Amino acid sequence: MCLLKITEFITSMFYPDRCIYCGRVVEHGKTVCGHCRLPRVGDAICSKCGRDHDRCVCSSMSYSFISAVAPFYYEGGVKKALLNVKYGSRREIPELADEISMALERSFGRSIITDFDLVAYVPMRTEKQRERGFNQARLLAERVSGNFGVPLGDVLEKIKDGEPQHCLTARQRRLNVKGMFSCKGDLEGKNILLIDDIFTTGATLSECSLQMLKHSALSVSAAVVALAVPNDDMVSAEKKRASDYY
Ligand SMILES: [Zn+2]
Ligand SMILES: [Zn+2]
Repeated sequence: MCLLKITEFITSMFYPDRCIYCGRVVEHGKTVCGHCRLPRVGDAICSKCGRDHDRCVCSSMSYSFISAVAPFYYEGGVKKALLNVKYGSRREIPELADEISMALERSFGRSIITDFDLVAYVPMRTEKQRERGFNQARLLAERVSGNFGVPLGDVLEKIKDGEPQHCLTARQRRLNVKGMFSCKGDLEGKNILLIDDIFTTGATLSECSLQMLKHSALSVSAAVVALAVPNDDMVSAEKKRASDYY
């Protein structure tokens, strides 16, 4: 056994690899246990927000993207995995990106996905990215791009910070993201797949899509790891017709 393998073996005895969702100890090098119950999105979903029909709150919304696809809801083990990523862990990224890819294949079929011209992602301010060391949306997009052989595009830029989105109501989120992103490059006639980690009210994804459409993109479809489960605030705010903001 070479020295590197011996070091790895000793490390794995003291710090065993754990399932990214449930924390069970897994075989060295693995990331999921295969036994945890995950909050998967069902088969009969809303074509706009990607949620099961009984969790959809977007009947009165107009998003700038055509559709959203996600493998999970933002609950349980998936929430835990995404929070770990938020606090600097990259170990979860490949598994989560592959789940996005499988959800895309289920929704569209491989041939339609490989027809996208570009995989874009929701950008982060440079200072914030420096703090965390990476932008999780970019890492997810990179892996999805590789999975389907569709080029990755650095076409969006975050140009200002608003209030932290999680402190705001659905209505305030839509106003807060206005002017937050800019788009660079000519996207004329391009069909774009936009990647992010979480879809809460859709305000950020919609604003990013709008900027790309303003730069002549033909269409934007969104794909994320997890869809927030609608809460009372989201339901009441969305039902008040927030569509006048777009
Ligand atoms: Zn597990
Ligand atoms: Zn919906």
